[in-house]
Amino acid sequence: MYFNFTDFFDMSDNICCRKSGETKNLELHHIVPKYMGGKDIDGRVYLSKKQHDILHNIIPSIIWKYVPEERKEDCRNTVKRFTLKWLKQ
Ligand SMILES: [Zn+2]
Repeated sequence: MYFNFTDFFDMSDNICCRKSGETKNLELHHIVPKYMGGKDIDGRVYLSKKQHDILHNIIPSIIWKYVPEERKEDCRNTVKRFTLKWLKQ
């Protein structure tokens, strides 16, 4: 599947949360979280602190270390697909 990541970068001065549209307390979230080895090129989005916390609560980081090495790439792709869907809900 192809994603146009420029859609997920805010180049303008009017940056806002991709989920809620809020313009305060913004944080940059890696579409593939850094602890999963996510890179900037995987995409980043601005989220309000609240939405950022919600997303990180949905993605259970504790499980990551129990994912077998050969399944980690699948797991990264699943998280990426999920996050892009979640942002549009
Ligand atoms: Zn994050």
